Formats: sequence, C-alpha cells, structure tokens
Amino acid sequence: MAEASGASTLAVSARGVSKTFPSKGGEVRALEAVDLDVADGEFVSLIGPSGCGKSTLMRLIADLDAPSAGTISVFGKPVDRARRDQDYGIAFQQAGLLPWRTVAANIGLPLELHRVGATERTARVRELAELVGLSDFADRYPDQLSGGMQQRVAIARALAERPRLLLMDEPFGALDEMTRERMQTELSRIAAETGAAVVFVTHSIPEAVFLSDRVVVMSPRPGRITTVIETGFGTEVARDESLREAPVFFDRVTAVREALHGAPVAPGGREAR
Ligand code: ADP
Ligand code: MG
Repeated sequence: MAEASGASTLAVSARGVSKTFPSKGGEVRALEAVDLDVADGEFVSLIGPSGCGKSTLMRLIADLDAPSAGTISVFGKPVDRARRDQDYGIAFQQAGLLPWRTVAANIGLPLELHRVGATERTARVRELAELVGLSDFADRYPDQLSGGMQQRVAIARALAERPRLLLMDEPFGALDEMTRERMQTELSRIAAETGAAVVFVTHSIPEAVFLSDRVVVMSPRPGRITTVIETGFGTEVARDESLREAPVFFDRVTAVREALHGAPVAPGGREAR
C-alpha cells in the first residue's frame, strides 16, 4: 500500500530509463531515455512492435531487472521497496502456476503468504474464481487446464490482494476472442472498482483502446515512447459492448494504428497484422 496517498503520488514514475543488454556482437539497446508517469488509478497500455522493449520496461518497474540508466519509482518509493511492500500484482505472459496446487490454492497463495484467515481466504478465492469464470475448476490442477484457463488463474492470483497497481504483460494473449473481450470488461470494472492503476502490455490495438485512459506507442528498438494517445473515455464512458461499436472508439483505434505505422494505411496497403 502507498503511504502517502496525496494526489501527487504517482503509481509509476520513470525518468530517463535506458536498458542495454550485453550480446556477442556488442550490445542490444532495448530501451532508450524512456520517461513515463502513470497516475494513481490510471490505466495505461504499452503498445509497439515485437522486441521494442515493452516486457523489459515492465520487468524494470517490477524490480525483476535493473535499468542501465535512469530511475523508476512506484508510489514514490524505489522499486525494490515497492516490491517488498507488495504494492503491485503481476500477471505476465507465463502463468507461472504451482503444478502441485489446485486452482483455488494457486489463487489463494498470496493470501496464505500474508496470513489471511482461512474463512476470509476461502470467500475471496471463491469470488476471484467466479470473476475469471473458473468456479467449476477450483479443485483442478494446472495441467488439467487449457493455457487460457491457466492464465485466468494467474490473473485472479494477481488480483487476490486488491493491489493498487497491476502490471500485466499480454495477459490475454492466449485467450479466445470472446473470453478475451469478457476479461477486458471484467478488468476495466475491477480497475474502476478498486481504483488500481494498471500498466498493460498488448499487441491488440482495440484491446489497448478499450481498456486505457492513455495508450503509449513505442518505436522499434531501441524502444522509445513516440506517441501518447489519450482515449478521453474517462469514467463517464462505460466500458461495455456499446463502446466497442461507437464512432469515438474507431476514431481512437485509427489514431493508435496511424501512430504505430507512422502514416495512414492506404486501402490495399501492406498493413502488418
Ligand atoms: P517486447 O516485450 O517489446 O517484445 P522485450 O522487452 O522482450 O521486447 O525485448 C527487447 C529487446 O531486448 C529484444 O531485442 C530482446 O531480444 C532483448 N532482450 C530482452 N531481454 C534480454 C536479456 N535478458 N538478454 C539479452 N537481450 C534481451
Ligand atoms: Mg514482450
């Protein structure tokens, strides 16, 4: 939990962040001079070509790796302290479940580690399993689930302690389109209800637009932030099915697509998919 809950406390603040990896032929410049602020309660998506450093940036925020230059703070604290204080929940590409634990026991693991009582834990786990559509699978083991279902367990686990910041790296990438849209709706509801800030990596332009207050577009390596698009949906616009069909939604999708590709795509043009 953040200590200072003043309006000025940013969920994430990155300043001049660069990351260079050593490699055989010299070095790989994964990120260069990235400045990013995420306000408390804000939903920000990172979108950009494969290899532009999105996962690297997430790993730096989560203190899973250290920047080569620059600084990052989470709720005004150094990232190692935020990690120790459990200020954020993580759902990354790999579900990372414990194979010897049931779905319920995987979801409840963070609560167990923080000594939440059995009654409260059981109730919360039931609620989370329902939220991600796995109520009927609570007693199964991870290897009895599809990849998408495993990922839903990981998301439920990340949400277990109602963190004020969620770091999500393509968490819906393995889900079928209908499940994915349902998860997006659920996630935006959860983010609104809990007031949690979210940093969300995705390859899907509609997904980024649907979920976000701001969509941050990154360039090919070395990854930099090239464009930031405010969706302007705010809290007044309900994230529901009608939004997906609204002209303003298509307008923002087009803006992000043009920012990604550098120019409007001509009919019959070679747009990457
Ligand atoms: P994205 O998530 O946007 O697809 P990544 O952040 O995973 O991109 O990777 C950015 C670049 O950094 C890529 O060229 C990748 O090969 C390189 N990279 C990432 N992690 C490492 C590492 N641990 N060692 C060496 N190179 C890495
Ligand atoms: Mg990645």
